Amino acid sequence: MAKLLFGTGGTPRSSKSTSSADGIRRIRELGLGCMELEFVQGVKMGEKTALQVREVAEENGVRLSAHAPYFLNLNAKDPEKINASRERLLQTARICHLCGAKEIVFHAAYYMGDHPSKVYDMVKRQMQEVLGQIEKENLSIRLRPEVTGEVTQFGTLEEVLNLCSELKELAPCVDFAHWHARNQGAYNTYDEFISILGNIERALGRAGLDEIHIHLSGIGWGKHGETKHYALKEADMNYKDLLRALKERGAGGMVVCESPILEEDALLLQETYRAL
Ligand SMILES: [Zn+2]
Repeated sequence: MAKLLFGTGGTPRSSKSTSSADGIRRIRELGLGCMELEFVQGVKMGEKTALQVREVAEENGVRLSAHAPYFLNLNAKDPEKINASRERLLQTARICHLCGAKEIVFHAAYYMGDHPSKVYDMVKRQMQEVLGQIEKENLSIRLRPEVTGEVTQFGTLEEVLNLCSELKELAPCVDFAHWHARNQGAYNTYDEFISILGNIERALGRAGLDEIHIHLSGIGWGKHGETKHYALKEADMNYKDLLRALKERGAGGMVVCESPILEEDALLLQETYRAL
């Protein structure tokens, strides 16, 4: 069975410092398996640090992923903003190539009042350009459009899976909390989780489950979707049945915990999963 790793979105709160290297060391101490580097406010890591991070991750056997900047919209009205968005993705890809974070999660676009199918075509075209450049530069990373939590954001489960099945270099980031919030509390039962995993396998083949990338936390929502992340035990996210479904389907890859108490909940997830 493929191995499922658990870790935190960003440096664990109990790390010696907020540096990525100390975060990775702490992940290892805690007995977790992975960590997502948060470049959400911009890529500020230099090349020298990236190479150090790579070394520390390899030494400690911690698998890395990264989250690209939030300021990114491949459907912006201003063409300059679209260029800048592609450039931010490439910047993230270049630094991740150096630090060994092979999976890069990003929020692709906003609808901006356009019809979703028009936005889909636009995002696809822009992604083809980005992927072409990644190939040209020989960057060994994989981009993962995320299932987003707000109704104004491109990124329903269907959009993300379609995009990833059309552009084979892509793979999804399935944020089960986002999907739950975006659908006003639906998608929170064992059967629904199993059916989502079935959709992933239908779209991407068995590899889609062997190499899954998940974001999870407790979550709140309003009529526009996601409002706030919560600790797992303070919200209704049915993580136990999700973990059961993942085990049942033999999913492998990474589960990145994005709750406010990061590592405590990542450990809760790992312990719950291992006890199944
Ligand atoms: Zn995200």
